[in-house]
Amino acid sequence: MLQAALSRASYNNQVKVTEILASRPEISSLAIEVREIKRRSIMKLEELIDRAISSLKAAKANPYYASSVEDARSIIGRIVGSNKLVILSKSMAAAELDLRSYLESQGNEVWETDLGEFLIQLEGVKPMHTIAPAVHMTREKALILLKGKLKIDVKEDTIESIANTAREFLRSKIIRADIGITGANALAADTGAIVTVENESNIRLVSSIPPVTIAIVPIDKIVPTLLDAVKVAIIQAAYAGLYPPTYINIVTGPSSTADIEQTRVYGAQGPKELHVILLDNGRLNAKSNPLLGEQLYCIRCGRCSFECPVWVHTANYWGGPVYGGPMGIIWTAITIDPIEAGKLAYLCLQCGRCDESCPVGIRLSYILRYLKTIAISGSMSKL
Ligand code: SF4
Repeated sequence: MLQAALSRASYNNQVKVTEILASRPEISSLAIEVREIKRRSIMKLEELIDRAISSLKAAKANPYYASSVEDARSIIGRIVGSNKLVILSKSMAAAELDLRSYLESQGNEVWETDLGEFLIQLEGVKPMHTIAPAVHMTREKALILLKGKLKIDVKEDTIESIANTAREFLRSKIIRADIGITGANALAADTGAIVTVENESNIRLVSSIPPVTIAIVPIDKIVPTLLDAVKVAIIQAAYAGLYPPTYINIVTGPSSTADIEQTRVYGAQGPKELHVILLDNGRLNAKSNPLLGEQLYCIRCGRCSFECPVWVHTANYWGGPVYGGPMGIIWTAITIDPIEAGKLAYLCLQCGRCDESCPVGIRLSYILRYLKTIAISGSMSKL
């Protein structure tokens, strides 16, 4: 059952991306441009972090630099407090922090609002793909989860009915939420604008309905300009097989109005507060390594997993506690432990399909081979 679902998802993604690239030649050219944007951004990452912090302050957002998982949890924990209703949009950065469990342990009620993330929250497993967290899920399993865990009656045994039932349940939470937490596809250093791309509209709701919102932005997502950030979002969507995306959201600071006497006040119909967590967690360290540093170009399109002949048998069960697949092993090396990641890399067949599929030209198979040598030598000093 699992392998049938994964093979189908992999095949469908390949067909969709092939169609998009064949019908939109400008996408391939833009991908080359995005690789260059990412390469230059990572080269001057420290400078961009400083600029992003200044721009966020100018936009009346509250920026924080979190060097570790513990730092980030502690900052978010102070903002959220306890006894709050918290809604999350799909974010691998939040998964990196195991944020849902952490906030629940602080006495909060926490709900994922992306349908796939919501289903795996009910199932109690990690995301099985970076853009399709419930890629392994059948409609029968989804029905069992909704009926069994939430005691919700689903009218019909159809995917539409499941989606509609989840929508009703989650909307009742979204409308009452105290805190909304999103990730980001990119953060523009020139303006402090946070760009996200999606189809479900849940990110749009999570970032605009609650009075207090938090965006967790891994520092590798910072690019120089708002235009660069939108280009990253477009390429991420296209190589995820979702082009054109239904929504590209741009959030620059909390909501505001200048309707009275042209005097701007913050807190109009949207959030009154926006907190932005710039998450390092091993990324600056990785930048100094020529191979691991290349992974910081990653835009999390997930295409390398769909192309990987190992991933179609394992899903994200292969890759580490948070991420999975070829890119996931390298992110495990960066954010958790290169030696443990190196052991996982031994399942890699070195076929190179991930290298060929990556829109930003990351040489994943070379990095995975390097991680294997780290697992043998027990240190990173041999590069
Ligand atoms: S490594 Fe490349 S293909 Fe894989 S998720 Fe990142 S950008 Fe996409």
